[in-house]
Amino acid sequence: MIIQVSDLKKNYGQLQVLKGITTQVAEREVVCVIGPSGSGKSTFLRCLNQLEESTSGRIVINGHDLSDPKVDINKVREDVGMVFQRFNLFPHKTVLENVMLAPVKVRKISQEQARKQGLELLKKVGLQDKADVYPDRLSGGQMQRVAIARALAMNPKVMLFDEPTSALDPELVGEVLAVMKDLAKEGMTMIVVTHEMGFAREVGDRVIFMDQGIIMEEGKPQELFENTQNERLRSFLGRVL
Ligand code: ADP
Ligand code: MG
Repeated sequence: MIIQVSDLKKNYGQLQVLKGITTQVAEREVVCVIGPSGSGKSTFLRCLNQLEESTSGRIVINGHDLSDPKVDINKVREDVGMVFQRFNLFPHKTVLENVMLAPVKVRKISQEQARKQGLELLKKVGLQDKADVYPDRLSGGQMQRVAIARALAMNPKVMLFDEPTSALDPELVGEVLAVMKDLAKEGMTMIVVTHEMGFAREVGDRVIFMDQGIIMEEGKPQELFENTQNERLRSFLGRVL
């Protein structure tokens, strides 16, 4: 198990957003997280990469216990790549520079090595010909693929995706999902919050249905999509499918 989460709770003031999440993710597993807006999906991912401090519970990633005061959070973060709904590329840097930045600054690898690796990653996401253009020349789908390449440049053990296609025009969704699917095929461990039920069904090894701060259902895509007895999941699927 590369990720172990036990009884994770997160409060914002009086509001308890995560009410005890317990789950594990195996190496090379693709877990899709679905659920209504406000159910705590983003908060869950943000706790996993320590953008948010959890209120209680335990998270172990790649052997590092995040609640251990001696743990080097920056080292743990390097193991966890994250892609958001909004791409947040640096507008004044070229596509290649965006991908090279973190490895040079954080990992202290040479410019030359970062450039070589950056070009390989851009090739992987189908954008090597865009290396020297600025983000404002790209479509949303291309920007999101650069954001994926940028996250991969840190050589993460795990990739977290928070609704990576929700902000895209419908015709651009497929190219981003295709890149994610390739990544899954190569054996990347992934947690993907998504409303793309086709992707969850096809690529997900497991689906987690979150509702009101808990994992309400969890299982193989087929079981969840076709055989669920859970009324809240049924009604959610009725709305999104
Ligand atoms: P989801 O991603 O499933 O839509 P979120 O994790 O974004 O859900 O949000 C869960 C709940 O936590 C919502 O009620 C939201 O308003 C609240 N919330 C999220 N972030 C914060 C924050 N920084 N401060 C206070 N409340 C927050
Ligand atoms: Mg969210």
